[in-house]
Amino acid sequence: MMDCLIRPFRYLFFLMLIMVYGETLQAQVSPNLGNTSRLMTQATTAMEEGEFEKANAIFHQIIQSNAPIPSEMPYFFAETLYELKQYDNSSNFLGKYLDLNGFKGQHYKEAKALERKLEEPLKEISACQFCDKKGYRLLTCTTCSGEKQVEQDCTLCKAQGIVGCSRCAGQGIVTKKNVFNILEYYDCERCSGAGRLTCPRCEGTHLEYGECRTCAGTGHLESEELCNHQESQSIGIRRTSFRNVFGNNMSHLKINHHP
Ligand SMILES: [Zn+2]
Ligand SMILES: [Zn+2]
Ligand SMILES: [Zn+2]
Ligand SMILES: [Zn+2]
Repeated sequence: MMDCLIRPFRYLFFLMLIMVYGETLQAQVSPNLGNTSRLMTQATTAMEEGEFEKANAIFHQIIQSNAPIPSEMPYFFAETLYELKQYDNSSNFLGKYLDLNGFKGQHYKEAKALERKLEEPLKEISACQFCDKKGYRLLTCTTCSGEKQVEQDCTLCKAQGIVGCSRCAGQGIVTKKNVFNILEYYDCERCSGAGRLTCPRCEGTHLEYGECRTCAGTGHLESEELCNHQESQSIGIRRTSFRNVFGNNMSHLKINHHP
């Protein structure tokens, strides 16, 4: 009798649970999408007002939010990056946009026009000897002063000047069997029983001359500064650096094709 009374309540309880849970799920999803479209509006407005740094920061926010990004977003971001002279990043996002949307993209024509506009600056970057392939200024390596080779701690002995003797495995003694098949112990000839030898690479100086480890023998270091492709350039300190935005984030982007 009691069971008959409880059962309907139990159903009701589960129904309520489902409703509450379902609502929570929705609550998690929709503000995210709402947030993205609000940010998109803010970013495109900033672009219209010529505030590309601001637009850039907003696009970064969209990427970092991890929410699906609107399918037109890579195009707007590419335009913004072009204005900020981040041509390599711009080209990457533009490529992504065209890959994803093809000629069906709402901004297909504009995207193709941007692609043509990018040709010249990208050519300048690849022809320039003062910047890396992405157009960022290369700095002279501070460790080797651009010499590529430098005197640094010996890697063989880890700057100890000595290495363990390999013949006696650092023991200083070697064993031999005599004619009666009995083991005899001798001082290691190679290290005179010391178990260690002067490092053959640095000859005990602790230093070796070789490829600079700071710059991997290139003589220069990467920077966050956009290159002017001229011999002299004063390097300032940038407040924001987004040089790796594409490499770090783009592969994980979820594109929202139905905004
Ligand atoms: Zn170096
Ligand atoms: Zn030895
Ligand atoms: Zn050494
Ligand atoms: Zn350059």
